[in-house]
Amino acid sequence: MIEVRFQRGLHLPELDLWLDPWDAKPWAFVSHAHADHFARHESALCSETTAALIQARFHLAENRIEGLPFQVPILREGFRIKLLPAGHICGSAMLHITRIKDNASLLYTGDFKTRRGRTAEPANFLTADTLILETTFGLPMYEFPNQLEVEGSILRFIHDAFADGETPVLVGYPLGKAQEALALLTENSIPTLLHPSVAAMTRACRGAGFEMLPEPIEFEGYATAGHVVIIPPNAVRSKLMRGLKAKRTAMLTGWALQPGSKYRYRVDDVIPLSDHADHPGLMECITRVRPKKILTVHGFAKEFAAELRAKGMDAWCAMGGDQLELPISQATQRIGANNSPRHIRAICPLADFSDLCRLVGETNSRLAKIDFLASYFKSFTEENDLRLAVNWLTGEALPRQSGRQPLHVGSATIRQGLLAIPGAREERYREISSTQNDTARTARLLLQEIYLKPEPLTLLGLATFFQELLGTSGSLERIKNSPRDSPRCTRWKGKPSSKF
Ligand SMILES: [Zn+2]
Repeated sequence: MIEVRFQRGLHLPELDLWLDPWDAKPWAFVSHAHADHFARHESALCSETTAALIQARFHLAENRIEGLPFQVPILREGFRIKLLPAGHICGSAMLHITRIKDNASLLYTGDFKTRRGRTAEPANFLTADTLILETTFGLPMYEFPNQLEVEGSILRFIHDAFADGETPVLVGYPLGKAQEALALLTENSIPTLLHPSVAAMTRACRGAGFEMLPEPIEFEGYATAGHVVIIPPNAVRSKLMRGLKAKRTAMLTGWALQPGSKYRYRVDDVIPLSDHADHPGLMECITRVRPKKILTVHGFAKEFAAELRAKGMDAWCAMGGDQLELPISQATQRIGANNSPRHIRAICPLADFSDLCRLVGETNSRLAKIDFLASYFKSFTEENDLRLAVNWLTGEALPRQSGRQPLHVGSATIRQGLLAIPGAREERYREISSTQNDTARTARLLLQEIYLKPEPLTLLGLATFFQELLGTSGSLERIKNSPRDSPRCTRWKGKPSSKF
């Protein structure tokens, strides 16, 4: 097997090649031109299209980018290296490497999707011994409707808005989703105005050879009847948009499948157009690659690896932190099982509570929820703990006799608390938060990337922490009290009831 390490990014030590690292490195593979996959490396290996896009987007000098055509192998240090289209956005690539002396092989997917998009080269898999798989939507609940249905929803949304005399506004990532929407609308002869950042990326895609995209027409704050506007998520409440009075907004995102996403994104509609593989897409990739070992990265990496292990596969989260599965009724036996040298997940009552929340949140079946809760409640020996758990499951941080005072910990305070943890970078927080638009998910993804040694915590310990927060005045003191001084609390994923 080819050796893979994880040190704030995936590293192949035999080649000294980094895969989409967050920090600048001497030699790195850049799978595609999204900002969260790019740093100013001394030498970046990528597809020819990504080379053109990162030059246009990040102005990296030409001599620091090695753009390769798809499917054409190069030889380095006893390895054959080949790029394959990943189907995520235009130019996105997977990396396939083979160690020539023994034919050991590895496929790193980067962000990918198995469905065919209009503006991304269709994904093409090769078999490999080791598969490093991107698992953003790695829970079974993420099964997107078929493409015709999704596109039908977009067109229906547009025609309904037109019929009511409103301007339809589609919200999507400026590189990838925005061009997919634009290509669909162009095919349907619907005139479209683009936010300047979307227009710039569309020009770059056209420059890289995607000529099916029309010459962009920029949105300048007004739209005549019969026009659609495409904007990025951070422009929804911008000054430019405020001028547009009668409008109806729809967010294009795979997270549309999460209950309540419409309210979280504060838009009129959410449509599950995604540039990532859904859960069946991840399974399809595994079927095609036929790996002996699977490492998962991004999103629901631990959950997806656990699901694969339950199916008998050798699958682990690349960042570590996997925990061997126990039926929840055995949770009190506290069998410490961990395969990872980097992240030790604390085994404690709070971890059991968080496991229960995950199990209950992941199933839509009321009976299964009741079963999980029943086994969990059965495991309690302390009445006070049971009272606290029940209280939190109803979504209240504090018991009723406290007069239900709010904790006054909003997303801004949580953000500052997270940034006070050594190793947390503001730039990275912003990148994650711009794709998630959800404080709890952002916190979870950010913490996954930081080296943490969480300490065990009892339910009473968390209740005391809430009481301390309640006792502090002013947001500065609350930030001081949050994760930095209480790293043991960073594992708590927020108000559990919001996931049910
Ligand atoms: Zn991406």
